[in-house]
Amino acid sequence: MDIPITRLQQPKPKPPDDELGFGQIFTDHMFLLDGVADTGWSNPRIVPYGPLSLEPATVGLHYAQAIFEGLKAYRSPDDKILLFRPDRNIDRFNRSAVRLCVPPIDPELFLSALTQLVKLDQDWVPHAPGTSLYIRPVAFACDPDLRVRPSHTYQFFIILSPVAAYYAEGFKPLRIRVEDRYVRAVRGGTGAAKTAGNYGSSLFAGEEAHKDGFAQVLWLDGVEQQYIEEVGSMNIAFVLGDELVTPPATGTILEGVTRASVLQLAQDFGMQVAERPITITEVLTAARNGLLREVFGAGTAAVISPVSELSYKDETVVVNNGQVGPLAQHLFDELSAIQRGLKPDRHGWMVEVDSSL
Ligand SMILES: *Cc1c(COP(=O)(O)O)cnc(C)c1O
Repeated sequence: MDIPITRLQQPKPKPPDDELGFGQIFTDHMFLLDGVADTGWSNPRIVPYGPLSLEPATVGLHYAQAIFEGLKAYRSPDDKILLFRPDRNIDRFNRSAVRLCVPPIDPELFLSALTQLVKLDQDWVPHAPGTSLYIRPVAFACDPDLRVRPSHTYQFFIILSPVAAYYAEGFKPLRIRVEDRYVRAVRGGTGAAKTAGNYGSSLFAGEEAHKDGFAQVLWLDGVEQQYIEEVGSMNIAFVLGDELVTPPATGTILEGVTRASVLQLAQDFGMQVAERPITITEVLTAARNGLLREVFGAGTAAVISPVSELSYKDETVVVNNGQVGPLAQHLFDELSAIQRGLKPDRHGWMVEVDSSL
């Protein structure tokens, strides 16, 4: 499908690769699509990046009927532009859509929008090692209507942001607070959907943790506050003895693409992996018995985030002497290399964007 393009007249200057940061710089263009509840999505177009015009009564702003995704495009040494498992993000977007009463988007149209937008703005995919182009698809409810009900109209957009290497100065293991007061998700809630509301409601606990010197919070389940769930915008995994353990995706955590890829790679390395419920008590006991070898987060932004310290109530556990563990390092190296086309893509994860102009 060919998507009509309105080009930006005067392309914006691109910042140098060492001044990128995360998510504050946007490329020249964005993709737009208009949705209507019963008839679906229409009018795909690529236009210059710029403000949207919204009525103050826009439903998405009042009642958080809004969903999003996050994935990346990488530049290989031979200047191929590669997307990492976009089919997974598209599937997940449509699962979030069902949960939030947003009309799903045809996966072929979605992929075509991603590739055509990235192709048009391909010069924005940075070159420096570790950098990438972050891709943010969003859909939100547009009706100007204060009644609490699913909107009739929707707007979908995709914007692009060149981002820095997450660990430009090497890994920085995180100090994490195990949150025992606030919860992120509950059984039957929206924990498995990538929806704006999950983030709005998580900010306060994050701020409290920052004040106390922690980088992020590790959420526990919303019923017993015992079972480990996930960290801010990452899934979490533990090396207990010789086994890699991560909580199961049973409705209260976001089913990360990085999480699934890490489980596959760890198996490829010959490791035992388990998706099973794990309590904070089990983690603390394992730490006391010398069985807790590594803890790390897994998500698109950082790929792997080693955890140096877990603090739960008045107990603090230092993981692996505060050093990056061998599995975290190996997974980071392997996954990053596959994403950048430096190692064979044995699982067929990468999608090349045709960059011929
Ligand atoms: C996006 C997200 C993740 C990570 O998912 P990836 O697909 O690996 O980027 C984990 N937890 C939450 C809450 C998220 O929103």
